[in-house]
Amino acid sequence: SDVLLRVENVVKEFPVGSTSLFRRSRDVVHAVDGVSFELRRGETLGLVGETGCGKSTLARCITRLYSITGGSVEFDGKDISKLEGGDLREVRRDVQMIFQDPYGSLNPRRRVGSIISDPFAIHGTLQGAARKRRVQELMELVGLNPEHYNRFPNEFSGGQRQRIGVARALALQPKLIVCDEPVSALDVSIQAQIINLLADLQSELGLTYLFIAHDLSVVQHVSDRVAVMYLGKVAELADVDDLYGHPRHPYSNALLSAVPVADPNAAAQRERIVLIGDVPSPIHPPSGCHFHTRCPKAQEICVTEDPALVPRLGDGPGHVAACHFPVADGEDLSKARAAIE
Ligand code: SF4
Ligand code: MG
Repeated sequence: SDVLLRVENVVKEFPVGSTSLFRRSRDVVHAVDGVSFELRRGETLGLVGETGCGKSTLARCITRLYSITGGSVEFDGKDISKLEGGDLREVRRDVQMIFQDPYGSLNPRRRVGSIISDPFAIHGTLQGAARKRRVQELMELVGLNPEHYNRFPNEFSGGQRQRIGVARALALQPKLIVCDEPVSALDVSIQAQIINLLADLQSELGLTYLFIAHDLSVVQHVSDRVAVMYLGKVAELADVDDLYGHPRHPYSNALLSAVPVADPNAAAQRERIVLIGDVPSPIHPPSGCHFHTRCPKAQEICVTEDPALVPRLGDGPGHVAACHFPVADGEDLSKARAAIE
């Protein structure tokens, strides 16, 4: 099948205060609140949203670093949401993660060659000289000097350390790589190098990426399709050009209105939309449409009815938005006033 990953109605809740010895609470954090999408082989799906919208939690549900509260995750035709033990380990070979912080995820006291060969040790594959040869191949593949096999992480620059993380993720020849803010901690000049590396590896190795970031310019550059998340839900999902050119959800419009447009005469130039208030707590998300407390277009129905993620007549294929009053091309939200308090 063309579909590598099918995420269906995934829910992830965390108990509040579960780490406290003295307080017990029945409250839960609704971190991921019914998310569905598909990821096709060889594509990059960008996942954007503000801090706390649930994108990192969703990533950890997909890679099974977290168990899920509800829904299902189907990978390569198999439901992986309830796997345990050896079966789970098997799936973990195919689904790898690259993390934001290349400093924090590398043990400073271990040599780089040994860090990159971790997956071989964990899965009991390749020994001795064969293992070393493969690690050096991986270093070369990601643009590191294989002679630096015995160096420590602090002998590498930030960009090189992220390359080490990429090499480790590639060790077991995964099919899917979930990249969680892979360039956010890097200097802008280095970001492009890592992004180009990921793109080259994708075409060379046929990789599929879920690419999480809050930087919309980066996401636009790397993605085939983009999903926008707000308070644990997908607000909008579309091909990258459809989303950036014709955002339908007021929240997508607000996010994109804050992105500087390179060409000042571009038709895409927008008035900046300033959202009122902060992102509400995921412990008590707003009723109806989660975005109604901040939405410039909100009406009474938005308070009671949760809008479905649906296509709109005339939009590009696969373009869906969860909004009762989708934004029209050219509509100016910067002066819109919500009809509710
Ligand atoms: Fe705004 Fe209503 Fe659309 Fe939600 S459903 S985004 S509150 S207009
Ligand atoms: Mg995050």
